[in-house]
Amino acid sequence: MNCPRCKSLDHNKNGKVNGRQRYKCSDCGYNYSVELKSTASSASVKRQALQLYLEGLGFRSIGRFLGVSHVSIQKWIKKFGQELEELKSENEISIGLTHLKCRKSNII
Ligand SMILES: [Zn+2]
Repeated sequence: MNCPRCKSLDHNKNGKVNGRQRYKCSDCGYNYSVELKSTASSASVKRQALQLYLEGLGFRSIGRFLGVSHVSIQKWIKKFGQELEELKSENEISIGLTHLKCRKSNII
């Protein structure tokens, strides 16, 4: 854990806040606390959940594996699905346009 302000690794322990270790930077004096694991890694956990889902695992198995409730897994996958659909339709449109262009230039 380095200082979010000056990136220095030199720090002193400075008590605890809400169960999180607080540090005081020895270089710039900035007070900061260590990020909770769940918030810091939520993006990578979601990616892992998607990977496991693509491997064919069920929501409950993924939830057990990652220590997340299967309801959140379900929500994530649903969201991923919507994003994928949006990506797909965007690609179809752009492919359609280039196809049209090619046809036109062939005629000319
Ligand atoms: Zn600092």
